[in-house]
Amino acid sequence: MKSLCDKLQTIGDGILSDTKVAYRQANSVQLLAVSKHHPAAMIQAAYGCGQRAFGENYVQEMQYKVEALQDLAIEWHFIGALQSNKTRFIAEQAMWLHTLDRLKIAQRLSQQRPDHLPPLSVCLQVNISEESSKSGVFPEEITALAKEVVKLPRLRLRGLMVIPKPQTDINQQRATFAKVRQLQEQLNQQLPTDQALDTLSMGMSGDCSAAIAEGATLVRIGTAIFGKRVL
Ligand SMILES: *Cc1c(COP(=O)(O)O)cnc(C)c1O
Repeated sequence: MKSLCDKLQTIGDGILSDTKVAYRQANSVQLLAVSKHHPAAMIQAAYGCGQRAFGENYVQEMQYKVEALQDLAIEWHFIGALQSNKTRFIAEQAMWLHTLDRLKIAQRLSQQRPDHLPPLSVCLQVNISEESSKSGVFPEEITALAKEVVKLPRLRLRGLMVIPKPQTDINQQRATFAKVRQLQEQLNQQLPTDQALDTLSMGMSGDCSAAIAEGATLVRIGTAIFGKRVL
């Protein structure tokens, strides 16, 4: 069986090769290791391989991991649905929130972000296939929300995030990601240049190559690193 470090290495190599195929710069795509439903010891092991950025989906689960791993210089990303009564923990412990979809949450996070930390990096989650059951902001509502979020002093709007509905055909995957990239380009034309968005958080274990081909700057990989979720 491949060791965890070997898997991380293989995934890193795959990201690099997808990046080259797309004529993009090496190091233009960051790997976020999605550790939800895996024990803190797995994170520690991946940290030992050099991985620093980890993504969690559930506040309670992240709380116990932050506590257990407080001696490590981990960059925590929150990528799950965030309720307004849980914003304080994220404001205090996370470097990134990928799933912002409401101004009220953004305002709370900005108020609660401690002064000794840099502004919290945030992405707006887009509901690109406009399925009413899914979370995220509809494309036509993105600009209005972005214009409010950039005014908040303790947040830094970095870009857009998407969780598309699962598709196996790579061309369909690419078409969806391309829509998100175009939305980001439109948004950048409306924001002041010093607030230009630099992040596209898209691509998971099953559609990471398509996402990189369409401009992803951060891929969120769980299963391909850690295997089946256990907790
Ligand atoms: C679980 C999860 C991932 C990782 O998915 P895998 O298919 O295991 O790579 C990425 N992003 C979000 C938002 C997730 O919830």
